Amino acid sequence: MNHELSKFPYKALVVNSGSSSIKFQLFDILSETKFKLIWKGNAQGIGSTPSYFTHILNDKKYDSKTSFVNHQTATDCILKTLLENKIVDNLSELKIIGHRVVHGGVLFTKPTIIDDAFVKNLKKIKDLAPIHIPAHVVTIEAFLQKAQAINIAVFDTSFHQTIPELNFLYPVPLSWYQDYGVRKYGFHGISYEYLVEKIGLILQRNSKDMNGIVCHLGNGSSVNAVKSGLSFDTTMGLTPLAGVMMGTRSGDIDPSIIQYMNQKTGKNIEEITNDLNFRSGFLGISQFSNDVRTLEEMYLSGKSNKQTKLALNLYAKRVSEFIGRYYNTLGGKVDYLIFSGGIGENSSVIVEKILKNIQGLPIAKNYQMPQNNDWKNKENYFVLSSNSETKVLIVKTNEELKICETAIKLALKNQKKINK
Ligand code: ADP
Repeated sequence: MNHELSKFPYKALVVNSGSSSIKFQLFDILSETKFKLIWKGNAQGIGSTPSYFTHILNDKKYDSKTSFVNHQTATDCILKTLLENKIVDNLSELKIIGHRVVHGGVLFTKPTIIDDAFVKNLKKIKDLAPIHIPAHVVTIEAFLQKAQAINIAVFDTSFHQTIPELNFLYPVPLSWYQDYGVRKYGFHGISYEYLVEKIGLILQRNSKDMNGIVCHLGNGSSVNAVKSGLSFDTTMGLTPLAGVMMGTRSGDIDPSIIQYMNQKTGKNIEEITNDLNFRSGFLGISQFSNDVRTLEEMYLSGKSNKQTKLALNLYAKRVSEFIGRYYNTLGGKVDYLIFSGGIGENSSVIVEKILKNIQGLPIAKNYQMPQNNDWKNKENYFVLSSNSETKVLIVKTNEELKICETAIKLALKNQKKINK
């Protein structure tokens, strides 16, 4: 298969498959570093009835109700829509497909070209991300079957390979790590890598010369300590359940709670772990919703009850505690503090609560919240505080662009190697 990848332009598709959705973006690759987004969308509610298919083409949004019984049917729909709308005339126009893969375990530490052996090995580490990896496998196999492109896996865990042993080891029997790979892996790495590069451009300094604390706050949330441009510590662990509180995940808790709740309720480990993954966090505390936008609207309109306020405050408290911890981890030399992700970019209630909680630190003493959303149309960032050693900013993340860049880079490098 000769794709002549150095002959531009061509198209690359980025696929982000979750447990019940597949988000996608199609780029025109104009040169090694210049990409133009031409189509994006989301197949949601896979496995439920109804399912939804949304896509945006030429600034026009199309919504439809449908039925995706599995990831295979959702993939078929994405490719069919691509052809029916003549976004491509032929699937052979797709030269590269970049897949976001949540967990690489110890097997995959960097972006990897997908072949049959890759899929076999990915299946072997299913237990590390039992919700995500089976979805990745079906989606990857479907794309391998239908399109002749080079498929590349980009991992959320790769960026965290630089975390030192002192920060990734749990104080449990060492054999758990040696025999079973029990360690902190960290997630949201694609977003962190994008944001660390972006902050260099924003502050016009080399990212490698700076330390920072980055908060990726979405439905899944984590905080990262960045030392000299590299991941040094992070809040998520063996799985994305650890660290700060999240939409439906608890974050860190006393591990004995699992046995205690087993004894009290008779629920087994799997059921209790499901409670921690799907019925905790904002949903668990508010007893109402996992969606911060909804909770924030209630809060701002004065309609929130005690639990809603408690959920917002508890989340802000948990995130600010990690900011304080990482300030200390980085020896008090922190050049930037970034808020990103759906909550970090949009929820001024949460961001302001966090900033108020960290007033004990010598950062963000005089911050200014954005008055409206204008900044999002102009720049992809907003400076909250710039007059201290630590610059505090909201920066819009772009994981799909980072996946695309990474996949193109690897594919080109690989082709050069083959052509030598
Ligand atoms: P994930 O990628 O982990 O699914 P996102 O980064 O998309 O999550 O973030 C989703 C979260 O961001 C939700 O809690 C959502 O309510 C919140 N969010 C999105 N837009 C807004 C907004 N305008 N105001 C407040 N919260 C928002």
